[in-house]
Amino acid sequence: MRIISDFPGGNCKFISAEYDDKKIIINLEQEIRDTDPWWFYWCFKIEDAPEGEIEFAFHNKKVVCPHGPATSADGINWTWCENFIDHTHFRYNFSENESRYFAFCIPYVLSDFERFYDTIKNDVKRTVLTKSEKGRDLPLLTFGNGKRNIIFTARHHCCESSGSYTLDGVVRAILKNHRSMLDDYKFHIIPFTDIDGAEEGDQGKNRIPHDHNRDYSDSPIYNYTKAIYEYTKNMDIAVFFDFHSPWCWGGLDDEPHLHLGPSVEPTPDLQEKFSKILSDLTLSDNGDNIIFKNHVTHIGEPANKPDAKNSKNFFKYERNANISLCIETPYSGNLKNGYTVEQFYYWGEQIAEALYETLK
Ligand SMILES: [Zn+2]
Repeated sequence: MRIISDFPGGNCKFISAEYDDKKIIINLEQEIRDTDPWWFYWCFKIEDAPEGEIEFAFHNKKVVCPHGPATSADGINWTWCENFIDHTHFRYNFSENESRYFAFCIPYVLSDFERFYDTIKNDVKRTVLTKSEKGRDLPLLTFGNGKRNIIFTARHHCCESSGSYTLDGVVRAILKNHRSMLDDYKFHIIPFTDIDGAEEGDQGKNRIPHDHNRDYSDSPIYNYTKAIYEYTKNMDIAVFFDFHSPWCWGGLDDEPHLHLGPSVEPTPDLQEKFSKILSDLTLSDNGDNIIFKNHVTHIGEPANKPDAKNSKNFFKYERNANISLCIETPYSGNLKNGYTVEQFYYWGEQIAEALYETLK
C-alpha cells in the first residue's frame, strides 16, 4: 500500500501507520505550507490497499467535513464518503488492491477545467491572460459581442474548489439559457487566478506575505494581478463576480452568502436587487437545490472591510463596475448529503438566471 499526494491538487503529510488485528490506522495531517494561520485543505490517494478497514486519523485539528471526506476511484467522479467518525477521523473498507482518492472537499484542478471547457469550446474563445509565477498559462475565456463587460473570476484562494463548480454552472447556463445576454455584454472568465496553488494543492488563503485576494494594491506582487490591471484598463464593466468558498463548515458557512461591494453611484442598489432575486429563486425551488437565504455582508461588517485590497473593492472603486461582489459557496453545505457537482451546477444556473433578471 502507498499513500501519495504528488498529483494535481494533492496535499497530505503522512505521519505513521499502526496495525492491529482488525484494522490499519494511518496518521496524517494537511500541509499548511505558506499559509498563516491554520487552514484545512487536504487531498491524497491510497494505492494498492490491502482488503479490510483502514482508519484515517488527522493530527492537526478538525479537517473532516460533517458529510465525511469526498472520495473518488478515478480522481474525476467524486462522492461524499459516508464513513465519517468525527471531524478528525474517517474509515474506509477497501477491497483487495483498491486505489482511491480522498479529499477535504470535491477538488477542481486544471484537468477538471479542461473537461468542462471541452463541453463549451465551440461557444467561447480561449486565450491566455498571462503566465503564472511557475510558468503555467492562466486560461481566459471570452464570449459575447456586447459593448459592456461582465467578468467572473475564481480561485483567488486556490483551495476553494466549490466556487469553480459554481462558476462552471453559471457559464454553462448563460450559454444555454441566456444567449440574448451575448448581444449586450461580453463575458470574460478567469477560472484560475492562482493556478499554481490550485495545481499544487496549496491552501492559498492567507498565503504569506498576502494571498491573491489581497494583492489589488498599488504595487501588486502576482503576475495575475498585474495582468488583470492591464486587461481591464479602460473597460466598461457592468458586473464583476468573484467565486469563493467560505470557512470549512458550521453556522452561516454551511449556507451560500455574498460579500457585497461598496455601494457607490450610479447603481448603489443593484447588488441588493440581484441578491434578493437570487434568494427568491432558490427559496421558491422545490428541488433538492442549494438554498440561498439572502445572507449578505455589507461593507463595514467584520468580514467585509472597505479598505481590503480585494477584487470586489478594486472592481467597484477602481473600475466602476455596476455590481461587484463575492459569492461564497460552501464546500459541503447543510443539505442531507454533501453538495454534489450537479447541485453546484444548478446553483450556478440560478445565479445566471438572477443576473439575467437583474440586468434585463
Ligand atoms: Zn476565498
